[in-house]
Amino acid sequence: MHPSLEKIISQHGELLDCNRPGVSALVTALDAACYELEFTSGGANGESEGIASLLLERVPAIIYAAEFGPVSKCFYASPQIRDILGFEPTDWTNDPGFWFDHVHPEDRDRAIDADEHTKNTGDPLRVEYRMIARDGRVVWIRDEGVVVRDSVGRAVMIHGLMYDITEQKQAKERLLHDATHDALTGLPNRVLLNDRIEQGIARARRETEHRFAVFCVGIDRFKVINESIGPSGGDQLLSEVATRLRQSVRPADSVARIGGDEFALVAEGVSSKDEADIIAGRVHAALARPFCLNETEIFITASIGIAISTGGDDSREALLRNADIALHHAKRAGKARHEIFDAVMHTAVVKQMQIETDLRRAIERDEFEVHYQPIVSLHTGSIDSVEALVRWRHPDRGLVPPMDFIPVAEETGLIAPIERIVMAKSCRQLAEWNALYGQQSPISLSVNLSARRFVQGDLVKELINIILPSGLSPELIKLEITETVIMNDPDVAVQMLNELKALKLRISLDDFGTGYSSLSYLHKFPIDVVKIDRSFVKMIDTPGQGDEIVRTVVHLAHNLQMNVVAEGIETEAQLERLRELGCEFGQGYYFAKPLDTAAMVQMLSHRVGHKRLAA
Ligand code: C2E
Ligand code: MG
Ligand code: MG
Repeated sequence: MHPSLEKIISQHGELLDCNRPGVSALVTALDAACYELEFTSGGANGESEGIASLLLERVPAIIYAAEFGPVSKCFYASPQIRDILGFEPTDWTNDPGFWFDHVHPEDRDRAIDADEHTKNTGDPLRVEYRMIARDGRVVWIRDEGVVVRDSVGRAVMIHGLMYDITEQKQAKERLLHDATHDALTGLPNRVLLNDRIEQGIARARRETEHRFAVFCVGIDRFKVINESIGPSGGDQLLSEVATRLRQSVRPADSVARIGGDEFALVAEGVSSKDEADIIAGRVHAALARPFCLNETEIFITASIGIAISTGGDDSREALLRNADIALHHAKRAGKARHEIFDAVMHTAVVKQMQIETDLRRAIERDEFEVHYQPIVSLHTGSIDSVEALVRWRHPDRGLVPPMDFIPVAEETGLIAPIERIVMAKSCRQLAEWNALYGQQSPISLSVNLSARRFVQGDLVKELINIILPSGLSPELIKLEITETVIMNDPDVAVQMLNELKALKLRISLDDFGTGYSSLSYLHKFPIDVVKIDRSFVKMIDTPGQGDEIVRTVVHLAHNLQMNVVAEGIETEAQLERLRELGCEFGQGYYFAKPLDTAAMVQMLSHRVGHKRLAA
């Protein structure tokens, strides 16, 4: 035996009984290791002695040797057991039940199975489990062992190393936690949510009756709230929302944050609309209580979309998509409400997908044409400008009005290429018409701009690229935007509008009065024209409704040096009253419906909006 090992064994005498077969195998292995190390390092005895003692004492693991039996009996445990578990080697070697008693109850079956497997097959042992240390600490152990066989090849003994891997485990758990949780609220993120939904589906496959529901919860107008309370207030609000959502579901249910202002819940055991309604009601109620942030009370509402599982054949993607579709419905239906995904929504989605496919084809095949509706001076009766209104010449459906496809185009982003087409065609057309009919006073062009386009960073560049080659002067172009566009993000809107104004383009506020109906913000934006929505024009000759709103808007707009266009004039009485109220421009069926190019040319050749005005 290598002298270094001999020395060490003498120090461990009472523990290491070299005559026992298992120990002798361990000693033989160590002996070989000492010689090997001495040989490879060319070192002296002292060095291999150090190495041997290192092997037994300094290796950061408990070295053990145990005999297989009905209850495995440990007959050697190295002193590292003191550092790792706080026990003495003899605590283990004297007590056959020691290991079993100190393995964490939740990990016991797994650890015993691994041990049995090694005993039965002779395969090396490699298992991780938790042990309870003397002071009650939980210690993660990686247990690696090899069997020792007797003369007939039976596995009779095991030599092993038990490493303390608690830190590794904790670091890994932290990493895993960070990858699956939202840092702000501590809630699971989309990754973990996906996992929970998959678990629900798997359970429905095992238990055919099991159902669950996925809720998508969106905070209404969060962007506006966030701007008014500042980002740290917004963070605080989101954390508080997370807490309240957790409180409004059962512990077994999951709550996740899946977007800036969007959360998801997975509620187990929900199979009916009524049950889903109850949970949604609880969520609405939890969020309806005021939030106290920096001594200010904030009130919020949420829209909720719900998809109820149908069984083991569900797909995670479909459930999440359906809940999201239902959320969109809830938002569109006026917010602060919930909707449950159903067959009608499904049909609507299928229809929308069909329109989307058709729209893509329509863009490729240039199926869009522009109709024009004159905007007439109420004083002179002459055509001041025309509004370009898109029409879709569908190969099967004929002429499709914008209402039937603009919303889908906006949602899918296809509005951008469509509006590029409208802009390019109408600018070219107006340049041509002005050359023919606009010598005395040029005709200007109103073009609608969707909310979606408005926030696209490249809008200004794109407009330059379209307008310049058309030859139409930018002063003659009015971009029609709606109140929603500017109120979505007022700061960005002001900046954008100023950029557009710098190009000498003019800005029209379309359908005024249908959005925020707030006169107070008008002065903040560089707007040239206010278009009063036709619902107010209608009121003029509806008995009892009066014309106060129109009067006020005209008055305010004039004070702010803005022009006013009244939309949807259909009767002579409306026209007369609007003239009296000082409104200078009008548009509506009374003058003309939107006209195709040929019909518009007819009108322009007279340059008069209506025969009665011309007379
Ligand atoms: P809008 O910009 O307010 O356009 C005016 C709409 O009111 C037009 O409908 C026009 O036909 C209709 N209208 C005009 N006078 C009267 C009237 O006296 N009575 C009634 N009942 N209606 C009248 P249209 O062409 O169906 O357009 C509807 C909406 O579609 C437009 O409303 C606009 O928001 C949108 N739209 C049209 N073209 C475009 C486009 O190129 N881009 C975008 N983003 N939206 C567009
Ligand atoms: Mg318009
Ligand atoms: Mg309008």
